[in-house]
Amino acid sequence: MQDIKTLTDFDQQHLWHPYSSIIDPSPVWPVSSAQGVRIRLADGRELIDGMASWWCAIHGYNHPVLNRALAKQTEQMAHVMFGGLTHEPAVELGRRLVNLTPEPLDKVFFSDSGSVAVEVAIKMALQYWQAREQSGKHRLLSLRKGYHGDTFGAMSVCDPVTGMHELFSGLLPSQLFAPAPTCAFGADWDATDISALATLLEQHHQELAAVILEPIVQGAGGMRFYHPEYLRQVRKLCDHYGVLWIADEIATGFGRSGQLFACEHADVVPDILCLGKAMTGGYLSLAATLTSTHVAETLCSGSAGCFMHGPTFMANPLACAVSVASIDLLLNSPWQQRIAAIETQLRAELVPLANHATVTDVRVLGAIGVVEMKEAVDLCQIQPRLVELGVWLRPFGRLIYLMPAYVIKTDELGALTHAIGQVIAES
Ligand code: PMP
Repeated sequence: MQDIKTLTDFDQQHLWHPYSSIIDPSPVWPVSSAQGVRIRLADGRELIDGMASWWCAIHGYNHPVLNRALAKQTEQMAHVMFGGLTHEPAVELGRRLVNLTPEPLDKVFFSDSGSVAVEVAIKMALQYWQAREQSGKHRLLSLRKGYHGDTFGAMSVCDPVTGMHELFSGLLPSQLFAPAPTCAFGADWDATDISALATLLEQHHQELAAVILEPIVQGAGGMRFYHPEYLRQVRKLCDHYGVLWIADEIATGFGRSGQLFACEHADVVPDILCLGKAMTGGYLSLAATLTSTHVAETLCSGSAGCFMHGPTFMANPLACAVSVASIDLLLNSPWQQRIAAIETQLRAELVPLANHATVTDVRVLGAIGVVEMKEAVDLCQIQPRLVELGVWLRPFGRLIYLMPAYVIKTDELGALTHAIGQVIAES
């Protein structure tokens, strides 16, 4: 490996990181390897990982089963175009997704990333209404504090304040927004929580193609957990007003919230479902958009005669093969008990932090723990301190949060919550 300085110098001069400035780059820590829930830095230090690389690495890093699946597929073929060709990894992954997701979701579109899966979902909804000769139904209704990705269609349905709407105003399609749900997961249902969304649907259904939201967990827009009844009401209202419902489970899919899919907390099924992130166990970028036969056949019966999307790396065999292995690994593991144990420990160790004067709220759901501070954290100060404490966490805004691999051990999770307690005590 190159020496650390050569590496970081080039990085800082030439490479963008997520939401970073080339003029004033924030520090980055070079990584030499990662194993289980440990990230080894190039300087030899080891960090316990609380981020699972943004919801993805649910089995931990460098997993022998996933490594083998990838190596085996590499020997067959890394990639072939999906136009006019097919292969076993795509079929096997498709079969698993159709089986795992509830009926009637049985048509699968593979794409490269979560944002693209959202673009695909939006396009499906638009083509659906075009095919039904109701092209006036072309807008989306989304939730404030939602997050759906960084491409233009996805940005247009992100929270208008944090979602860069001002920056790109005039270029983004104009969508409608309901207030973020306030009735928390586990609280008594407050029927007024759905009123604003109900009113928007009543007033605008004739121009609405779909409602789009993240079920139960609003992720990057605020790490908020809301009441399952909200989703049941969304399903009812969408049916009543003839509007499709897109559920973005890119972050929540594959067990994170305690159910395999967050919609299961409410026992409801969307018309279109987006999956990504943990699908490959965090190995490669792959996403899927699922819909029903009814929606799929309708949208393909329009003037275009097909669904108008086709990425170069659609259904990449390596990514599909590792996804198949990751899903099998998950389903053959005691994932529900593991996530329940993580939830119990996070509650026990994070909730007491709510007593601290600088903390406004602590919340836990499944394998997600969130400490919300009163003021935005200073990342430049807190990040090096966390590294010093031997953990990898990446706070944003007022949130210090974690979503570890499901295989994390009690003492490792304890080290993470302890470090959070420490930086809060120092704040
Ligand atoms: N939707 C949700 C709910 C997400 O959390 C994310 C990623 N944080 C995306 C969409 C976008 O996914 P990607 O970064 O893979 O484009």
